[in-house]
Amino acid sequence: MLTMINAKGYAAQTSTTNLAPWNFERREVGPADVQFDILYCGVCHSDLHQIKNEWFPGIFPMVPGHEIVGKVVKVGKDVTKFRAGDLAAVGCLVDSCRTCDNCKEGLEQYCLNGSVQTYNGLSKDGTPTYGGYSNTIVVHQDFVLTVSKKLSLPAVAPLLCAGITTYSPLRYWKVGKGHKLAVLGLGGLGHMAVKFGVAFGAEVTVLSTSAPKEEAAKKLGAHKFVLTSDPKQIKDAKRSFDFILDTVSAPHDLKLYLSLLKTNGTHIMVGISPEPSPVHAFDLMGGRKSLAASGIGGLPETQEMLDYCAEHNIASDIEMIDIKNIHQAYDRMLKGDVRYRFVIDMATL
Ligand SMILES: [Zn+2]
Ligand SMILES: [Zn+2]
Repeated sequence: MLTMINAKGYAAQTSTTNLAPWNFERREVGPADVQFDILYCGVCHSDLHQIKNEWFPGIFPMVPGHEIVGKVVKVGKDVTKFRAGDLAAVGCLVDSCRTCDNCKEGLEQYCLNGSVQTYNGLSKDGTPTYGGYSNTIVVHQDFVLTVSKKLSLPAVAPLLCAGITTYSPLRYWKVGKGHKLAVLGLGGLGHMAVKFGVAFGAEVTVLSTSAPKEEAAKKLGAHKFVLTSDPKQIKDAKRSFDFILDTVSAPHDLKLYLSLLKTNGTHIMVGISPEPSPVHAFDLMGGRKSLAASGIGGLPETQEMLDYCAEHNIASDIEMIDIKNIHQAYDRMLKGDVRYRFVIDMATL
């Protein structure tokens, strides 16, 4: 008989209450499962969107968190990839159908039968999933990633969402040497986009409404900076980029940014604004431009990204917080007052 695992975490009981300590149960470790104790969990803007029901009605109580790293404590008898004591990570997904065309290609994030989100989702047995703002997690080995000891572990956590969300589109569109890449927004996603863009050999420009971000952008390795509130700088940047990676999750004027693309340029959205952004066909037609979007990454690519980061010494710039300060962190995140990702030290739970 299976016995459940007692877990503790921080949960929102409803969409209008703050996160607070909550005890709950995780499933016992099955034959193909890995249990790991969570050491660090990144704070993603989507955590706040979801506990506030800003995208769709959520499943409550909700334990957010999908940038999860920790140490394996137990594995099922069929698990070969992990042993107790290994480092492990889980990102935005904990399951998918594994049989559809997309899953077979390693694009589990686009599972045609619906992948299972790490939190605010339903497992195949109908039980809710609970995320990384907690002390321990049990996940099928196929959805657990290997983490190198080379990088600082807390700085690895944000790679599981902010990292793969920017890595995947840059790889898909083969952004690299000879390309001019603009990164729109310099937050958790944006700062990773700059690091990857530079590592892949592109000329990287940060587009921002905030002048002080210029120094920060250059420090991250960006080659150029355009202050988008300055009409002169915008005028000079017209038709100059091959790609724009748009990480902004607040409403913004796509027409303006499309005008900065060269002929055949592509504007790729990875941030999710709560409101739709209107685009006129003319904004794309004058130069055969494309408007695209990309969501996280599949399991094989997420592992590839983690391995690439270990090899090239790339990780997130983070600020560590105690879990009791999570709402102060959200407030600062909304003001853009973080360089560049908050990570919860789970020892403070
Ligand atoms: Zn995220
Ligand atoms: Zn599938």
